[in-house]
Amino acid sequence: MKIKGMQPFILAWQEPNDADYERMTVLLRVDTDVGISGWGEAIAMWPEACKATVAVIDGGLAPLLAGEDPRRVGECWQAMKAHTWWYGEGGIAALAISAVDMALWDIAAKDAGKPLHALFGEVAHQTLPACASLHVNHPTIDDTVSAVSGYIADGFRSAKLGLGKRGASQAGRDPDYDVALVGALREAVGATPDIMVDAGNGTRWDIETAIRTTRRMETFAIKWMEEPLHPGDEAGHKAFKAAVHTLVAAGEREWGLAGYQRWIESGAVDVFGIDPARVEGPTGFRKIAAAIESANKIVNAHAWSTAVLTAASLHLSVASPAAILFELKPIPGPMQFDLVDQPFWHDNGSVQAPDRPGHGAEPKPDVVERYRIA
Ligand SMILES: [Mg+2]
Repeated sequence: MKIKGMQPFILAWQEPNDADYERMTVLLRVDTDVGISGWGEAIAMWPEACKATVAVIDGGLAPLLAGEDPRRVGECWQAMKAHTWWYGEGGIAALAISAVDMALWDIAAKDAGKPLHALFGEVAHQTLPACASLHVNHPTIDDTVSAVSGYIADGFRSAKLGLGKRGASQAGRDPDYDVALVGALREAVGATPDIMVDAGNGTRWDIETAIRTTRRMETFAIKWMEEPLHPGDEAGHKAFKAAVHTLVAAGEREWGLAGYQRWIESGAVDVFGIDPARVEGPTGFRKIAAAIESANKIVNAHAWSTAVLTAASLHLSVASPAAILFELKPIPGPMQFDLVDQPFWHDNGSVQAPDRPGHGAEPKPDVVERYRIA
């Protein structure tokens, strides 16, 4: 089997989980000479980053791998790393490699007639509990509590509250509001569902505010606090970790193994976000996950884009003994529910990786065309 061509698509859509703001991504179809195609994604998100990712694929990775056997995923990954040595080790090159690597894994699994996770060895989880990964963008605390209560009633086992997001909410802009939100939610859903808080890029706490706010939230038994500080602030994260009791989550903005190893060695992080559409694909993800598993920390796949990324993240999660849950965007949107025939969802709070060959996300050509931008 030989790689015959690569076709990237830049898609733009209104995301209901992001208050209907426009989001963008790059999907990639890799074609072979035997008629099998695989799909990958690079979560480039910004127009210029999407175009640059396509330029690296079209100008570099596609000609590099033309005629190669796509089932030799490891060798192809090494060749892409070697090719991008000067401008790689993160950034656009990592995004481009992610899309190609994900598509090659899809092809390899389809050719083997197996679900992707079967190529990663023994499955660690038959199912994972579903976490509603939401952006808090509702006008009032009551609105957020009512939405999340609905998700829990629908079966979701936990909820992750993304603060500082676009939309009508004060969340992430006023620590008193954030604490009141968590308190009201805990009262509404009871003791059982886990509540995670994701401060993230839009919330700008200094170290004192981060610690004080988290300690107040701990009285409502939060499961973890994610990205309380700027992700480059290792000293801050160490001080934060020493001052709180809850688990500390971070990592989703790293690009590869070296960055994650620094965080593992820092001892400041318990839950590592990893995005296979960013960290040089499933191959990169597995190297990182192995290091996290060895350190007895938690792997948490980041998958907040299309069903292609969700598929890859899900197979990688069920294959990792260090995964404890799987995040889904709770509001059905076009990139999860229209793009593919068999959307990824939970069954009474359990998420299972599909057993059809490949990663199981097969974008529909007409939907790709509908959302594609030139
Ligand atoms: Mg996050």
